[in-house]
Amino acid sequence: MIDNRIILRVGCVDCGHFFDADLSALYRARGGEFSLIGQTCTCRLTICRGTGYFVAARSMNEPLSTLTRSGDDPLKLGGLNATDLEPPSPPDPSGGRHGSISRFVHHIATQASAA
Ligand SMILES: [Zn+2]
Repeated sequence: MIDNRIILRVGCVDCGHFFDADLSALYRARGGEFSLIGQTCTCRLTICRGTGYFVAARSMNEPLSTLTRSGDDPLKLGGLNATDLEPPSPPDPSGGRHGSISRFVHHIATQASAA
């Protein structure tokens, strides 16, 4: 069963970007027995293609945890929550410039790179 309230992101250890992860797409692709714990995927930034780790939290304001088997923190989250990863303000619909995109959350459909 998928709990759609769970916050799921992918963080890249190489470029530091975080992306939304589509839990429903992962379920369709991998089935209900597939576990994200210990899984990695490839960063979606064309110029990066680094290693992404799945991170999750129960809500936007609770600390994210990296889903590793060892409990390591390869992304050095240090108590970050999903709200911390959002842009400081919504993009300007008029096309004006807005703040740094270094932590902007991009929407992607991830594919776990199961061994
Ligand atoms: Zn990357």
